[in-house]
Amino acid sequence: MSIYIDPEIAVSLRGYEVPEKLGFGTAMAPVMFRAVWQDGCWSNGELIPYAPLTVDPAAKVLHYAQSCFEGMKAYRTEEGGAALFRPEMNAARMAYSAQRLCMPSVPESLFLDGVRVVTAHCTNLVPSNSGESLYLRPFLMGTQPDLTVSASNSYEFYVIASPSEAYHSGNMRLWIEREDARAAVGGTGDAKVGGNYASSLLSIGRLRERGYDQSLWLNPANRQNIDELSGMNFFAVIDGSLYTPALNGSILEGITRHSLIQLAKGLGYTVVERAVPIDELLEQIASGECSEAFACGTAAIISPISVIGDGGQEYSLPYTPGPVAEHLRQALLDIQEGRSEDTYDWMKAVEPVNS
Ligand SMILES: *Cc1c(COP(=O)(O)O)cnc(C)c1O
Repeated sequence: MSIYIDPEIAVSLRGYEVPEKLGFGTAMAPVMFRAVWQDGCWSNGELIPYAPLTVDPAAKVLHYAQSCFEGMKAYRTEEGGAALFRPEMNAARMAYSAQRLCMPSVPESLFLDGVRVVTAHCTNLVPSNSGESLYLRPFLMGTQPDLTVSASNSYEFYVIASPSEAYHSGNMRLWIEREDARAAVGGTGDAKVGGNYASSLLSIGRLRERGYDQSLWLNPANRQNIDELSGMNFFAVIDGSLYTPALNGSILEGITRHSLIQLAKGLGYTVVERAVPIDELLEQIASGECSEAFACGTAAIISPISVIGDGGQEYSLPYTPGPVAEHLRQALLDIQEGRSEDTYDWMKAVEPVNS
């Protein structure tokens, strides 16, 4: 499929200055990709200037939350270009999220065209310090203006981008959320949808008042096994082996989680995917068998956990960051930033386009 390149983007890009203070996901690149689904098929994609959207106030997305998204990064390469990390996995996950919300999947080729064309035209905006990247945010929403409860008959797919610094969330203090649930079993926990985040915000607000950073969500069916954080997967190091909750339908399968499991096995670690009961983990922290815990996701890669709070009790981890977390973080970043050989063929180079 051919992509229409709006000539106006040259003006937008020329007039754009990357802010000195980047933050994460705050500064937006001046272009975006759009494709529209109508009457059962996708339009050609187009690269257009970044601008507010026109959305009908009755659009289904605004009332019934028919929307899903992805989060991924383009890294600067040694040669001055940019490379995407495992973009096919984001395409596949978005297709899964879309079908869960009864939306048409964005075909892999259209998804990849979108992230590639944005990256290609924004190569000059990819920051180059270690940990920095062009953060890409593809999203899909139902736009039909109609308050009937049913799936929309029209959709829009966008890719926006944000030159971002490293997302710092080291030494996290977690709070075990024993009241609320993030996502029900059989619900949308394993799909990347905004609604899961909306239902996590009240918990985060409460625990911030108590001096914590993030909720640790338990499986909603048994309120016993660890699921994950609001936007990151969970790992613990117990007697030198890595443990992470097995996918169970209410955990979002992170691409960072998937990659770390593969990488850790390749580096000789034992990795166990199974249910991780919270009581068992707290005992192992207290006894010293559990030496490290960390969370992982695209934004922060690996964020060490320093404390897990539960009611009046606090359980402190001895190493933050621990040696295993440091080892894995460095090994993954070395691949992403092109310092070590990409033995798993994870990086997909994008040819820069200067417009
Ligand atoms: C996006 C997300 C993650 C992390 O996924 P990555 O692909 O590693 O970025 C973990 N949990 C939830 C709930 C998420 O939405």
